[in-house]
Amino acid sequence: MSTLLYDLHSHSTASDGTLSPPELVARAARSGVHVLALTDHDTTAGLEEAEAAAAPFGLEVVRGVEVSVTWGGRTVHILGLNVGRDCAALEDGLARLREQREGRAQRIARLLGEAGIPGAYEGARALARGSILSRTHFAHFLVAQGRAESVRDVFKKYLVKGKPGHVAGEWAGLAEGVGWIRAAGGQAVIAHPARYGLTAAKLGRLVAEFQEAGGQGIEVVSGSHAPEEIDRMATVARRHGLLASSGSDFHGPENPWIELGALPRLPRDLRPVWADWGGRAA
Ligand code: AMP
Ligand code: MN
Ligand code: MN
Ligand code: MN
Repeated sequence: MSTLLYDLHSHSTASDGTLSPPELVARAARSGVHVLALTDHDTTAGLEEAEAAAAPFGLEVVRGVEVSVTWGGRTVHILGLNVGRDCAALEDGLARLREQREGRAQRIARLLGEAGIPGAYEGARALARGSILSRTHFAHFLVAQGRAESVRDVFKKYLVKGKPGHVAGEWAGLAEGVGWIRAAGGQAVIAHPARYGLTAAKLGRLVAEFQEAGGQGIEVVSGSHAPEEIDRMATVARRHGLLASSGSDFHGPENPWIELGALPRLPRDLRPVWADWGGRAA
């Protein structure tokens, strides 16, 4: 029986996390994680640094990515796990998403400027330190400017639908994003499925299209799932024959309610995504 602790969803400064890849890896090891997937938004830029940092800890880094997808008019996140190095289909796809992020960031900044908040592009860009530009960077900037008390507050007041700085993302198609992950030899997993506000019927349609495209897994256990959401997603995994994944979605120590590896166990009857990984996972 495996007693390894898996955390298959985390972020570093390569996207909107606040720890560098080596800092993240060190913290994961301290938290007792044995297998950590670094899954930055729309980039694989942090993976080499994470892999190099992991060796002395005896920690295994899974090469991951969290791909932004637009499905049914909303943003859905698809994790790629064990993606190979230098896959042109994946890397070209991610490069396109980063360009789309750049255009969106400029539109967000223009809207915030019209709402009386100047300098948001430069502010967010400085915080992102050359990595991808995320709404999280705008949120940190607005908190620093005293416009809101917390990142959560910024999203509520400025960045979500109906608020002054909202710009709908236009990302990859679902089949396209899954295709990039598969082309890179990775497993595709629907991230934090309870976060999309989908009815059971809509979630069923998402899963069907996802599987049609070659997707295999669903994040049943997530740092952002309440216990009843875990139960709901376990049922979805059983019904559709999906592999089950588990990840904290850790972004940094400033969110004290989410810690690396601090996750309930997957329901025992589910087949985990790592069932066929071999090696340490066996
Ligand atoms: P983006 O991909 O640039 O649209 O940014 C999405 C990121 O913002 C997510 O990955 C989360 O890290 C963060 N986020 C989204 N919604 C919220 C929220 N309500 N409160 C705090 N962070 C959020
Ligand atoms: Mn994020
Ligand atoms: Mn996500
Ligand atoms: Mn994430």
